[in-house]
Amino acid sequence: MKLCRYNDNRLGIVEGNEVIDVTPALDLIPPMRYPAPMGDQLIANLAAVRAKAGGLKAGGQRLPLDAVKFLPPVGNPTKIVNAPINYDDHIAESKADAGIAHGRTNITHISDWGLFLKANSALIGFGDEVKLRFPDRRNDHELELAVIIGKTCHKATQADALSYVAGYSMGLDMTIRGKQQTCWRKSVDTYAVCGPWMVTADELPDPTALDLVLKVNGEVRQNSNTKFLVYNIPRLIEYATEMYTLHPGDIIFSGTPAGVGPVVPGDVMSCYIQGIGEREMRVAKEYA
Ligand code: MN
Repeated sequence: MKLCRYNDNRLGIVEGNEVIDVTPALDLIPPMRYPAPMGDQLIANLAAVRAKAGGLKAGGQRLPLDAVKFLPPVGNPTKIVNAPINYDDHIAESKADAGIAHGRTNITHISDWGLFLKANSALIGFGDEVKLRFPDRRNDHELELAVIIGKTCHKATQADALSYVAGYSMGLDMTIRGKQQTCWRKSVDTYAVCGPWMVTADELPDPTALDLVLKVNGEVRQNSNTKFLVYNIPRLIEYATEMYTLHPGDIIFSGTPAGVGPVVPGDVMSCYIQGIGEREMRVAKEYA
């Protein structure tokens, strides 16, 4: 099932070129009192919501994809976990390009870096626009397979890691290049794009061999496959949970292949990941 959030917090099933409104399925999410439980409550209650959504589909209003404003598939992740230097060809380009490396000499292996977090406040869906900051600095696109965790998960193993996954989505890890910490340069508002929908894990059983392509204004910039990940998805979940407890709705951006490069206001980034789909993401016409 392809599940999306859109417009004013509505819930939809994506089929072909349409979104089918199944918003009443959200009524199954139990009411909350302060403090809200850890984890996104749509994802924490996904099995029940999916079952109800399936029943609502036949009577749901159908809208063309282009008529809705896509929100991120998860409204309240507790964190957005990111993998740095996780494709060999991106490691090579990072060593070769001073505009990426900014003097770093330790561009070696993900095991030397660990993972980093992007601020949740940076998260947007494909119905929004990336609003660039700092015209004097390089603002890059990084297309990545995004994993949405479905169940609380601590000290996972590679063997059981995929059993914790709710689904997959596309991630754009927008980045300001520079010497500062990654969590700082990559957490600008709108710099964590996720969506346009979540493909549930039962429809995408193997995330370890998916093509991904990013074009800017029609020109191919990134073209790779998740089989080239240094740490693949099961290993990334194992690695993340050595340090973090992952909660339902937490998002893992799995890393980007070679071809990262700058965008400027007005650019259109076309994102494609096999099994998920294709969608354009616009860069706002003005700097924020
Ligand atoms: Mn990245």
